[in-house]
Amino acid sequence: MNGIIFIAPPAAGKGTQSNILSSKYNIPHISTGDLIRASRNNGSNEYIKQAQSGGLVDDDFVINLVYNELKKSDCDNGYILDGFPRNINQAKELDDILKKLNKKLGYVFLLDINYELSRNRIVGRISCPECGKVYNTLDSLSKPKIPNKCDICNTDLVRRQDDNEETFKNRYDVYLNETSPLIDFYQEKGLLHKIDASMSIEDISRKIIEVIDYDNN
Ligand code: AMP
Repeated sequence: MNGIIFIAPPAAGKGTQSNILSSKYNIPHISTGDLIRASRNNGSNEYIKQAQSGGLVDDDFVINLVYNELKKSDCDNGYILDGFPRNINQAKELDDILKKLNKKLGYVFLLDINYELSRNRIVGRISCPECGKVYNTLDSLSKPKIPNKCDICNTDLVRRQDDNEETFKNRYDVYLNETSPLIDFYQEKGLLHKIDASMSIEDISRKIIEVIDYDNN
């Protein structure tokens, strides 16, 4: 299967959808945000600080992380890039990497949500560090039953350091100014599929899977 990428404002659900697709199609989920946060021990503090501020981390650093993941053999049957590319330069570099590795990009999903929904999902988001369940304190349907405790395993819930009002504004501006030009870039290549990401998680993945399965059957 050819590769999958997402274009998405903050909290549109690219991480969640990547997990679902990764299990369904048995292909690796490569999250640049996770890779950057996990690079703490490699003298990458400067990059981690950049990420915590909501701005983009240096292209060369991120491109190198992605290249090292894509060249692994488990990407031979497809891959999901969650959070990459984030700007036109990265998109062009991705084209070059894929050519070099003889791989293809098949699908670009634009997860479409408006400013208000993006903000509320970020500012209210807390999650369980133990089982990964995500909650939202601003949404009565997805609040934890006991404040700050996981419904499933009773662990204390945590907030991602960049999930706050101030950083959100930065992240949204970065999305508008740097990432959203990718919409036209991939539309011109005929790879773009727009999905209404205000729907439920299940409805979003059903739409995405319809597109992929239509192509592969
Ligand atoms: P995410 O987990 O995708 O929301 O990413 C968290 C943060 O990591 C972003 O706000 C950026 O600071 C940084 N980051 C993730 N992916 C990239 C990328 N492709 N280019 C530059 N910075 C990135």
